[in-house]
Amino acid sequence: MSTIDSLPLRDELRGKSPYGAPQLDVPVRLNTNENPYPLPEELVERIAERVTEAARRLNRYPDRDAVELRTELARYLTRTAGHRVGHAQVWAANGSNEVIQQLLQTFGGPGRTALGFEPSYSMHALISRGTGTGWLSGPRNADFTIDVEAAERAIAEHRPDVVFVCSPNNPTGTAVDEATVLRLYAAAQAARPEYGALVVVDEAYGEFSHHPSLLPLIEGRPTLVLSRTMSKAFGAAGLRLGYLAADPAVVDAVQLVRLPYHLSAVTQATALAALEHTDTLLGYVEQLKAERDRLVTGLRAAGCEVTPSDANFVQFGRFADSHEAWQALLAHGVLVRDNGVPGWLRVTAGTPEENDAFLEAVRAVTKDLK
Ligand code: PMP
Repeated sequence: MSTIDSLPLRDELRGKSPYGAPQLDVPVRLNTNENPYPLPEELVERIAERVTEAARRLNRYPDRDAVELRTELARYLTRTAGHRVGHAQVWAANGSNEVIQQLLQTFGGPGRTALGFEPSYSMHALISRGTGTGWLSGPRNADFTIDVEAAERAIAEHRPDVVFVCSPNNPTGTAVDEATVLRLYAAAQAARPEYGALVVVDEAYGEFSHHPSLLPLIEGRPTLVLSRTMSKAFGAAGLRLGYLAADPAVVDAVQLVRLPYHLSAVTQATALAALEHTDTLLGYVEQLKAERDRLVTGLRAAGCEVTPSDANFVQFGRFADSHEAWQALLAHGVLVRDNGVPGWLRVTAGTPEENDAFLEAVRAVTKDLK
């Protein structure tokens, strides 16, 4: 039997591990920032109707440009994110991971670099590697906010082609303010005066934030891209639908690398059905925000340190050995995430019952472990 190391792998993939949050069969699973609420029955029925219609035409390729879906996504953003966009400024793909991959295939690649501020969403680095883009790890302050001056210096020194800003940031929950994004954008433009650098604001958790979306910043900034997903606020992680908003030229540019017909007719039909039920789904978001805030209070009452969160998850600690704490919670039937940030773990806001079970487990294990 061969191993992957005996294969003619690309050098930069040797010895590396794939992305892998454990999928364990545990009573309370709060480790992958999913929405705990199943889709409402009326939406499930609407999906069935729309998918049935699409099934009648599955002999044909789907709309390659997904115009109806992009139009509805643009309407959703216009209505909820404080800035008018049209379908020419919106592009969709199979999860925001694919959006990020297409951006890196277009604007990164061999001989180019991307910079992110770590700890952050690990796939920014992994997709960079997968697309042959060099990865640069930028600085954060001890409280996990971006150290803006150090970031400006890093951008000036390394002159990256792509800069990732994750707001709210996964795994810390930290939101990035408008002024910081503007300074990073200015630094990225100054470092690459010919074409500018691409600044990708990953707002996968934007709907859960206490702050407004950064979407209005795309206006007049041709290389600022906002990335979003239906996996979190829409409770549709299984759908695999992510999207971006940017200058129409960016949307035109990603066409150069996207696979033809990348969004199946079934995906487009399902996403369109979900967008018809936006108001109900955003109602769950409000409940989850309240639960997130309750987790923060409960964790503090249990003696934990908590990083202020604008997402549907909370980073908590500090543990002398975070992996040991992760295991102790697992022994109590609660799966949280160890993102490898020393001293810290991350819990996703679940249903009130799941959160109660989590807080109870925390109270049981913290005293012994901190
Ligand atoms: N960005 C961030 C910050 C995330 O945390 C995630 C999912 N964990 C994604 C993007 C990707 O989400 P999806 O591909 O499901 O849209």
